[in-house]
Amino acid sequence: MTCIEAQSLITAFINDELNINEQEEFLEHVESCEECREELEVYYALLTAMKQLDEDKHLSNDYSQELKDKIEHAQERIIHLRYNYYRKKGVLIMIILSMSIFFSLYHYFIPKEEVNPVKESRFQLRTSFMENRFDKPTNELNRYFEELEGNKAIGEIE
Ligand SMILES: [Zn+2]
Repeated sequence: MTCIEAQSLITAFINDELNINEQEEFLEHVESCEECREELEVYYALLTAMKQLDEDKHLSNDYSQELKDKIEHAQERIIHLRYNYYRKKGVLIMIILSMSIFFSLYHYFIPKEEVNPVKESRFQLRTSFMENRFDKPTNELNRYFEELEGNKAIGEIE
């Protein structure tokens, strides 16, 4: 920020009309520039005194100290807003990260679980179960027919 830009914002700063970015740049400049700082002090004393006269209030004793307080207050507010901004951004990033981790794990594990049991056990178990169940009566039936054939043969001989 140049001195001309800073000086054009002095009145707005005193009347609390700057947004946070303008305020931050303005304060940075005023902290490092003696000339603009003096300009700000003069304007601050002048405008505040006029306002106090206008509202029939007592005039302040120490405009310089009041301005210091005002600047400190503005700086605290900037830090507070910035901190909140980054904290909210951090929370948002954490939510997005944990959601994407959850969904990538979800897609990674779910197909595996579906494939394994089918491949390994259930199908084979069921076929062996079916074999046992139908082989036994089939064998018995065959044996019965064999015996029947045998009896028939014996009967024919007799
Ligand atoms: Zn300057």
